[in-house]
Amino acid sequence: MLPGSAGIGGEPRAPVRKAGWIGYVGVCRRPRTDRPPGRIDSDVVSLSIGIVGLPNVGKSTLFNALTKNDALAANYPFATIEPNVGVVGVPDARLGALAEMFGSAKVLPATVDFVDIAGIVRGASTGEGLGNKFLANIRESDAICQVIRAFEDADVTHVDGDVEPSRDIETINTELILADLQTLEKALPRLEKDAKRNAKDKDAQELLRAAGQAQDILDSGRSLYAAESVDTDRLRELSLLTVKPFIYVFNLDSGDLDNEALRAKLQELVAPAEAIFLDAKIEAELAELDEEEAQELLESMGQQEAGLAQLARVGFATLGLQTYLTAGPKEARAWTIRKGATAPEAAGVIHTDFQRGFIKAEVVSYDDLVAAGDMQAARAAGKVRMEGKDYVMADGDVVEFRFNV
Ligand code: GDP
Repeated sequence: MLPGSAGIGGEPRAPVRKAGWIGYVGVCRRPRTDRPPGRIDSDVVSLSIGIVGLPNVGKSTLFNALTKNDALAANYPFATIEPNVGVVGVPDARLGALAEMFGSAKVLPATVDFVDIAGIVRGASTGEGLGNKFLANIRESDAICQVIRAFEDADVTHVDGDVEPSRDIETINTELILADLQTLEKALPRLEKDAKRNAKDKDAQELLRAAGQAQDILDSGRSLYAAESVDTDRLRELSLLTVKPFIYVFNLDSGDLDNEALRAKLQELVAPAEAIFLDAKIEAELAELDEEEAQELLESMGQQEAGLAQLARVGFATLGLQTYLTAGPKEARAWTIRKGATAPEAAGVIHTDFQRGFIKAEVVSYDDLVAAGDMQAARAAGKVRMEGKDYVMADGDVVEFRFNV
């Protein structure tokens, strides 16, 4: 490996200087004070999903299953950052194959942060239950995952008496809309003042206009994500909730997991948003099993993929994210980037120095690499490309970056 390259590499090591290449070999991790220990050091494009729902729908069961995931806990010693934040690895079979090819000691999947909040009840926005103060916990998340009870169990009470998914979805959506309306009502006097005082400031005018439009949409009972007429980018500073994409998780009886008619009916309630069907109790069991046993249990229920894996995958797709891969003796690893990211931007996810000092990227697509058998054969077959700073990354690119810092 060339000095000053990173990616298909090994241990983080001290800076090396050689033949005009100055840089770090491998992935450097500097302790950063703004992240909890054990987190990856870099400007990681992290995906965070806030979990909401009525009380007793299975949120905690699901969250516990997410955070108990042994495979991941082993790789991330601080998998539970705070009591209500869990880090979940995105299952990626490509990593196992790369680890075998490169003899990697560890496999590090891309991750999703899940934020669990207390249940929302009807009237939360007017102070019922815990009120909506706790919604602050999910204001920074990228997407909202709504858990909906579709399981029958006489021993588990339903806050509204019976199991009725469409009503529950309506309740939660209404509370989120009301929470956003409150945020806007609080912010509007300030935005109006700013716009008046800075009559020539186009941004202030546009922000006020967008806030007004958002208020109209919310007043009509609609969420902002689906509304195309409002410039939600402008509203970012207000951390509104309904500008985020929603992912719906239906918590079913295990016997209903393969009930296609029921699934179709539930999917229809939330279309065009994505729906995921799982049994939170089974997910909790799956999290305790090793991979083989888990697969057996899934198959016995006619399922291919654990619900939690679906959740991570759908979260990635919903937010327009993809991964590229690096592999070496130390680790085989997936890194999260936005679709359309260039090679230097992708390098910056490992370390900002890699972006600043980017020279080029040695890239081979995962499929080409696997077809060739190893890097040497892929090179011999002309499948390994040298790409410059304008290269737009593709999902599954296996990359080694060359940089100079
Ligand atoms: P939360 O209030 O939404 O966090 O709900 P919990 O996760 O605490 O679950 C409430 C109760 O429902 C607990 O007793 C769970 O064991 C039970 N529960 C959760 N998921 C399921 C499920 O899929 N089926 C059944 N029968 N019970 C469940």
